[in-house]
Amino acid sequence: MIDLKTEEEIELLRENNQLVSKTLAEVGKHIRPGVSTAYLDKIAEDYIRANGAIPAFLGYGGFPATLCVSVNDEVVHGIPSEKRIIREGDIVSIDCGTFMKGFYGDSAYTFAVGEVAPEVLNLLKVTEEALRKGAEQAVAGRRIGDISYAVQEHAESHGYSVVRELIGHGLGKQLHMKPDVPNYGVRGRGPLLKKGMVICIEPMINMGKKNVVFESDGWTVRTADRKPSAHFEFAVAVGEKTPDILTTFEFIEN
Ligand code: MG
Ligand code: MG
Repeated sequence: MIDLKTEEEIELLRENNQLVSKTLAEVGKHIRPGVSTAYLDKIAEDYIRANGAIPAFLGYGGFPATLCVSVNDEVVHGIPSEKRIIREGDIVSIDCGTFMKGFYGDSAYTFAVGEVAPEVLNLLKVTEEALRKGAEQAVAGRRIGDISYAVQEHAESHGYSVVRELIGHGLGKQLHMKPDVPNYGVRGRGPLLKKGMVICIEPMINMGKKNVVFESDGWTVRTADRKPSAHFEFAVAVGEKTPDILTTFEFIEN
């Protein structure tokens, strides 16, 4: 069963995801060459707690930090560290979750640090576009496969590849719920979308091949060919006529 949220519950999910959106923007202000990924994690944890929420990833399945910080060829789940220093030209994926008032927030953004190679900037642009194209499909009567197809089609039409091992998910009173939301798939297939479903759409798009490697730290996922990977994530409530996107990148991009 995929649970349907009431309007009140959707507002609580919106509150959480707006806080995540603001946290991503706050972290973004501090991303610059020379800072450690652990420093960014501290910024996020303090900001989330100051706003009355709990960092949702901290302790989740044993994860040791507030943020997943994944640099360059790291796809997702990078563990913040004092030793990992951000450099000019890096791309840095920040994935962040909150918990307050019984519900979760979960969103991600990939930042460019200083001057980044144009082909890498294009990967970021196309991945964010793929996310938005996926989100456009979050309308009652369509299916999960319509979202999956839209993401995959956009990414692959630009010559990029879609990670298979990690996917989006439902969001609510748990961080990861049904339904699965793959970033690859077939139109018209998969669970039927209904008003009140809340899902996280989170394309992980590789510049090179789709294959990934799970590092021995137990968390970090990186590309097998060591080419860059981008990750953007929205929480979206399925609407009757239009999607209701609970995350915003406006705090970051404006
Ligand atoms: Mg996330
Ligand atoms: Mg997620």
